[in-house]
Amino acid sequence: NSPTQLRSLLLEQGRSQFRAQIVEYYQQHGSLDGLYQALRAQDPRPPGEPGTAQNGFRPPPNPPLRLFGLVDAEGRVILPVSPEISLGNILPPERYRDGDPVEIDGRLIAIILTRPDPPEFSLAEQSFLQNTSRALLLGAAGGMLLALLLGVLLARSLTRPLNALAQAADRISSGQLEQQVTVSSSDELGRLAQSFNHMSQEVARANRLRRQMTSDIAHDLRTPLTIISGYIESIRDGVLEPTPQRLGVIASEIDHLLQLVSDLRTLAQTDAGELALSRQPCLPADLLERTAASYQDQAGRKGIHLLVNAPLDLPPVSVDITRMTQVLGNLAANALRFTPSGGEIRLTARLQGEAVLLAVQDTGQGIAPEDLPNIFSRLYRGDKSRSGGEGESGLGLAIARALVEAHGGKIRAESQLGEGTTISITLPQA
Ligand code: ADP
Repeated sequence: NSPTQLRSLLLEQGRSQFRAQIVEYYQQHGSLDGLYQALRAQDPRPPGEPGTAQNGFRPPPNPPLRLFGLVDAEGRVILPVSPEISLGNILPPERYRDGDPVEIDGRLIAIILTRPDPPEFSLAEQSFLQNTSRALLLGAAGGMLLALLLGVLLARSLTRPLNALAQAADRISSGQLEQQVTVSSSDELGRLAQSFNHMSQEVARANRLRRQMTSDIAHDLRTPLTIISGYIESIRDGVLEPTPQRLGVIASEIDHLLQLVSDLRTLAQTDAGELALSRQPCLPADLLERTAASYQDQAGRKGIHLLVNAPLDLPPVSVDITRMTQVLGNLAANALRFTPSGGEIRLTARLQGEAVLLAVQDTGQGIAPEDLPNIFSRLYRGDKSRSGGEGESGLGLAIARALVEAHGGKIRAESQLGEGTTISITLPQA
């Protein structure tokens, strides 16, 4: 504890001062005779300071006198170390064996003994100690107060934005998806607020898309179902005859519904990553020839020139052949639908860097720039009025993209209104 440490510090200091005093006195006088009287004469003690009087022995307050005793090399007492010992007594060696020897030029002239009873602090030392303790106490209290104040301020500046975030999160979970919190700093909290705002926007966007898609699906299911139920009711009520042509319309509407459901199922599977692909190496030229073969007839009837341009030395790609032909067929069907008679559709393959690029290029009507970013979206149709025609679910390109991405590839579209459209697929080599 601090009084003990202070005491040993004082002892330490006093001892080295005392040693210097002894040496100086010895060098001046040639002996230590009269040292005691000299020290007493220097006594600065103010009258009335209490000493620790014991048996009439009153320890002088002069630090050396108060703290130490001194014997010469033979053990004769020069300064008494305790009340029962008087000047000039010879002490037995075991009494001063542990003392501090004072030597001049290697010759032992005296031994300093430290008083056994712990000396009292002087008034000055006591008040110094008290002052020090008070200053320490005040400092600690001030420090604590400051830390508390800073802590409260810091906690407030942290909790305010966090509270705002928590409230916004609560509102999101209660269904108000579009939430923005103010970003007031660029630190971690600011970044958190930014990410939160971004997340909220994305959640709201995904929710809008989901709602839109549900309503589109409902609409797409409704039209064929209305036609089917209308025909069947009229036939049941005897208003219409069940001619093969009418039954044919019903059958084709049912096919349309089945196609829609199967498309939605494919999309759901790719979304969940559950679509099983049976991949095998396949030459790009083979894929394009297959597609061309399926549509050659239709193209011929429409007066459209369908041609394949694929070098045979291209490296193979690893694909699920059925799925990839479905994708290319989809692109070819679109090209046929949007290209007028006399036009041309090219199926091409080439190397692009490390990847193989397959493209379906037509000289058709093209896609308006405002539609171009949306054509891969689900249920998106360029011409809103023209819905439910042959195979037009608005899912074709969405499925194409999902399937291409399931193969680790990419699909993109380029188009110029009135000039034509190119849809390109890049696939990694097998
Ligand atoms: P859909 O099954 O209705 O054709 P898709 O997803 O296949 O739907 O295509 C989405 C839209 O992109 C189409 O409605 C059409 O407006 C546009 N589109 C696709 N391919 C072409 C093309 N080759 N030329 C012009 N427009 C096209």
